[in-house]
Amino acid sequence: MTQFLYPSESGKPESPSVVKVRQYITPVAMNTSCLTVLELFFQNDKLYALPVTNSEGVPIALVERQAFVEFFGRPFTRELHGKKTILQFITNDLIMNQMPIIVDVSTSTDDVARIIIDKGMQHMVSGFIVTEDGYYAGVANGHSLLNEITQHKQAELYYLAHYDQLTGVPNRMLFSDRLTQACREAARQRTQVGLMFVDLDRFKQVNDSLGHSVGDLLLCAVAQRLQSSARDCDTVARLGGDEFAILLDGLKDPIDADVIARRIIDSLQRPFTIMGHELFITASLGIAIHSKDDDNIGSLLTKADAAMYEAKRNGRNDYRVYEPGFSMYSFERMSLETDLRSAIDNDEFVLFYQPQVNLVTGQVIGVEALIRWQHPKRGLLSPAHFIQIAEDSGLIVPIGNWVLRNACRQIKAWGDAGLPLMRMAVNVSAIQFHQVDFCGIVKTIIHEIGVDPSLIELELTESIVMHHSTLVLSTLEELKKVGVMLAIDDFGTGFSSLSYLRRFPIDCLKIDQSFIRNIESMSVNEAIVRAIIALAQSLSLEVVAEGIETEAELAVLKMCHCTEAQGYHYLKPLPADDFVAWLVDYRGVPQVQPASLLLEALS
Ligand code: C2E
Ligand code: MG
Ligand code: MG
Repeated sequence: MTQFLYPSESGKPESPSVVKVRQYITPVAMNTSCLTVLELFFQNDKLYALPVTNSEGVPIALVERQAFVEFFGRPFTRELHGKKTILQFITNDLIMNQMPIIVDVSTSTDDVARIIIDKGMQHMVSGFIVTEDGYYAGVANGHSLLNEITQHKQAELYYLAHYDQLTGVPNRMLFSDRLTQACREAARQRTQVGLMFVDLDRFKQVNDSLGHSVGDLLLCAVAQRLQSSARDCDTVARLGGDEFAILLDGLKDPIDADVIARRIIDSLQRPFTIMGHELFITASLGIAIHSKDDDNIGSLLTKADAAMYEAKRNGRNDYRVYEPGFSMYSFERMSLETDLRSAIDNDEFVLFYQPQVNLVTGQVIGVEALIRWQHPKRGLLSPAHFIQIAEDSGLIVPIGNWVLRNACRQIKAWGDAGLPLMRMAVNVSAIQFHQVDFCGIVKTIIHEIGVDPSLIELELTESIVMHHSTLVLSTLEELKKVGVMLAIDDFGTGFSSLSYLRRFPIDCLKIDQSFIRNIESMSVNEAIVRAIIALAQSLSLEVVAEGIETEAELAVLKMCHCTEAQGYHYLKPLPADDFVAWLVDYRGVPQVQPASLLLEALS
């Protein structure tokens, strides 16, 4: 009897594409004698029907056990009809002749169900032959087949509703169910329940640069690592995108959650090999332990999410356990998208500026525009809180255009006010870059504002240039024709070969700040930075080291002959006026006008 399993702990029910029936059977040829067929039925009491094939092996009829055995049980029947071929028998009017319905293995269960219902076969004793690669998988009657299909459907529906289709782990719905149960149980048993959020760092980059199929396989591999790092009693679920959650059930001591978190971080640090790519990925984890104040799981989810954001804010690849005082960034995260839609119209975005300094002359040679969102209720939000939402919703396109327009206006205003010439770096998201006629939009904005295009530098992510498509190349070449500069942001965190550097008209590499961090004590970082600088020199590219925080980091970078730098060591990003006030004060800038006049001109 075929069994359709309900999903077990590990997930998926068996889901054959065709309903397989009772047992494999060998059909009988049409010239087989009735006595031989009778013998076959006697030998196998589970055989309740037999297909009969013609000389080409095509099934032409089904002999049904009950009718056949009953017929030959009558007095003298064997003697009279036994030697006849089964073909003569089935054409005999004495027995109801029924043409079989044959379906192929590729027939979906839905179609089988449709046939049964359309032909009114629900109550039929026999009728179907299911074939598999030309062999007979079996015969079945409409009634039990329909039963099985229904059961199967139920299992499938349950699976679809409760399990993540990609990774096979429980989805948000099942997870919430189990979390609710576990919290109730914990209150009764006086044990503790922990909730852990796992969010992959820079997963989007993998997806953008290597494609969704690599991204999907990576998610499956991550799900497996999470499962093997968690305890057997824990539930690992995928909440969507690159977000996973783990229900830590029956914790004896909250410290156990730390142990599991550490194990997960370690296990994810091993490289993944996906479709020939060796990928390195890290994750940020947030943990919340259920307490009696958490009257619903919503508050526990919010806490774990807040802890995860805290881990992200603190440099990623780490975990945090929720403490009161963490900002509930995720609180009604969904509503952020709604708010984002009206943010441009309501003039809620602001640009902050951070200087880029020439390490040889000490002069400020550029400035990067970094967006902030002055949210009416949540205060000033940094890009970490909304860029992803903006990208997912497509809102990044109008937002990106707003940024470009305002950054151009600002640099033009500064130039008009007599500030020394600086280039203005503007971040461009992959989605923005790939929009139709991105280059045309850039050109229009630059011309409208009347800014010198060579003062504008577009910071592209490595994922954009990793697509070796002719489209990317032609957009980059067109942008160069417009006259803007092109930089690769967060250089070194990508996953692909660097051959694009030779093919694409890039002007500048911005070394990711993760390589700068503690460079004075991390020889690996120094080696990487030296390699990037050498590479840039050999290709005649500029290099900017990002995220310099300390004098010690700066000293090493100077030693490595890095020529440009940006970071808190000089200035944290500030609104335009504060930036100008700093600039005027900064010793490396020759003052063309007295500071007070300059500020006046700008206000
Ligand atoms: P990014 O382009 O790599 O920008 C550098 C980020 O590092 C900025 O964060 C900056 O404040 C921060 N940073 C600079 N110096 C230091 C330092 O010394 N130490 C540390 N810890 N951080 C430093 P921010 O402003 O939060 O922006 C984060 C990212 O958001 C940016 O990374 C960029 O990818 C994105 N972003 C910012 N503005 C825009 C925008 O207008 N459009 C798009 N598409 N993305 C933007
Ligand atoms: Mg940038
Ligand atoms: Mg960067």
